[in-house]
Amino acid sequence: MLPRLERPDLCRDGAPPLRVRVRYTRAEVSGRASLHSNTITLRLNEHMVPKDKLAKIINHELAHTRGLTHAQMLGSNLYCWLPGWEKHFTWAVELPLDRKPSKLRTEGSEGWIAWMSHLKKLLNIVKLS
Ligand SMILES: [Zn+2]
Repeated sequence: MLPRLERPDLCRDGAPPLRVRVRYTRAEVSGRASLHSNTITLRLNEHMVPKDKLAKIINHELAHTRGLTHAQMLGSNLYCWLPGWEKHFTWAVELPLDRKPSKLRTEGSEGWIAWMSHLKKLLNIVKLS
């Protein structure tokens, strides 16, 4: 069996497609990826985190997909929350990563009107019982 080599560049020709799963949570923003996998899971809360912080988390998880372990990342502010990490991710601040407003809950939208109508029906049911 051939040893698995660290992927030098995810953007190189022939690199397998990466799958990014996004989960929403009330907890702190975080990420997860297994070594040499092609899947990253990002856990985001409803509040947008600073874009440079999100980019750093994605970079950390990408490193896992390339085969880097925490021991190999130790001491690097490119992968760990060490002083000066922000300087590597200033480019991310300009990325269009803002959260889109929910169509369902945007006041006055069709989805919002339907949702409010549903809530009123539920309240009437509760009042009657
Ligand atoms: Zn990690």
